[in-house]
Amino acid sequence: MNPILDLDFIDNRTPEQANAAASCDTQVSKETNTGRSRKLYIESYGCAMNFSDSEIVSSIMFEQGFDTTADIAQADLVFLNTCSIREKAEQTVRNRLGQINHFKKKKPGMMVGVLGCMAERLKKSLLEEEKIVDLVVGPDAYRDLPNLINEVDGGQKAVNVLLSREETYADINPIRLNSNGVSAFISIMRGCDNMCSFCVVPFTRGRERSRDAHSIVREAQALVDQGYKEVTLLGQNVDSYKWASEDGTENVNFAQLLEMVALLSPDLRIRFSTSHPKDITDEVLYTMKKYDNICKYIHLPAQSGNSRVLELMNRTYDRDWYINRVDAIRAILGEDCGISSDMIAGFCTETEEEHQDTLSLMDYVQYDYSYMFFYSERPGTLAARKLEDDIPLEVKKRRLDEIINKQRETSLARNKRDIGKVHKVLVEGTSKKSEDQLSGRNDQNKVVIFDKKHYKKGDYVNVLVHDCSVGTLFGEAID
Ligand code: SAM
Ligand code: SF4
Repeated sequence: MNPILDLDFIDNRTPEQANAAASCDTQVSKETNTGRSRKLYIESYGCAMNFSDSEIVSSIMFEQGFDTTADIAQADLVFLNTCSIREKAEQTVRNRLGQINHFKKKKPGMMVGVLGCMAERLKKSLLEEEKIVDLVVGPDAYRDLPNLINEVDGGQKAVNVLLSREETYADINPIRLNSNGVSAFISIMRGCDNMCSFCVVPFTRGRERSRDAHSIVREAQALVDQGYKEVTLLGQNVDSYKWASEDGTENVNFAQLLEMVALLSPDLRIRFSTSHPKDITDEVLYTMKKYDNICKYIHLPAQSGNSRVLELMNRTYDRDWYINRVDAIRAILGEDCGISSDMIAGFCTETEEEHQDTLSLMDYVQYDYSYMFFYSERPGTLAARKLEDDIPLEVKKRRLDEIINKQRETSLARNKRDIGKVHKVLVEGTSKKSEDQLSGRNDQNKVVIFDKKHYKKGDYVNVLVHDCSVGTLFGEAID
């Protein structure tokens, strides 16, 4: 799963800042103010899947009498929905718990819970290591939150980190916490059955399971009815989405699900993430081509450009396979289809030549952008058990800088191709830099800034692009 879909992070920042931002995205709950008796503050770290889970948690807690708040000082209950993907993500949460202690001292009744991947990975030991924590809840145990809160109300500490083979929270109507009212996430599956050797996700999120296709369509329809214009279908590997009805009469794969959602409304844009190179099919690409409202943008993480490293990573494809999939995207969807990647620098035993293969793959594909990390060994993963983390930190960082610099070059080159063309932009709000300008995204998920005129959030606007930076397109609305 890619971190939150945002390319601002590669604009005008040093490589170190860019990577720090990419590795610890955070979202904070908003005020619901419906007059409930207690208040929940929830801070979410890591990927879009976690942000989506926090919306499910807020819905469960709403039923228990909790409004959400954006002000931690007002909270009766504080949740950190955590990420374990890299060591730094966990350290960020531990530092944050230290800061929260300060609030808890002022308000001793405040309950503190750790949710998500870090809860699942560390289980009960989190209670011993972080004295401030009252409850630890894994990603498949959120329905049990009301009981766990009761236990804490009764003076106990509470833990539930059971993983499930069935839980998809299909029937829970998420409370949209951070939405701009224009775009929303929909989880279509949970867990992951791939065992990439560097990755902790299969251990923290359990087995892969696909959600009932009809519940996904209902959620998307409800969003359309509320005026939303864009949904992003989320899963660790959306191409392996596969749902069958209990009586076996209906079978839905990812291409078919995409089509079902696309047919809801021509005004609803559909995005999805993440596509796994081993599974992405031509059927998906042809479905994208068939519907104008399925965005022509694919997040296709390569991780490395070298076949030996890919094998060590247990990605189950090699460089040639990856290039073949990129060629299929270009052949079916054309040169303008956006492609982005995740890259890991300095995986175990990676040589300089193998690192060069990553750079040359980036040259070949011409990614619009990438999320770039240096390898961080995670306890319990296949790599931690079988391979030596032998690339010195300075070398990892230098290789990462080279990857980031390469990405800046290709992002700029790709953005320059957009100059002089008209882009259909969905307006998300006012630009960060000027009240007189709007910010939105084109089909390829690129941020486009243009003068406001009479346009507003939620409008589709045709924008003629006349300039660009590494991370942004600038243009003018044409009526
Ligand atoms: N399921 C998605 C896929 O396979 O492409 C990726 C999900 S993962 C949450 C997001 C990204 O974090 C990965 O694509 C990888 O680049 C990065 N990542 C995962 N484990 C890592 C590790 N141990 N060190 C550095 N980066 C890591
Ligand atoms: Fe992790 Fe690989 Fe699953 Fe992605 S596909 S979540 S990288 S194990």
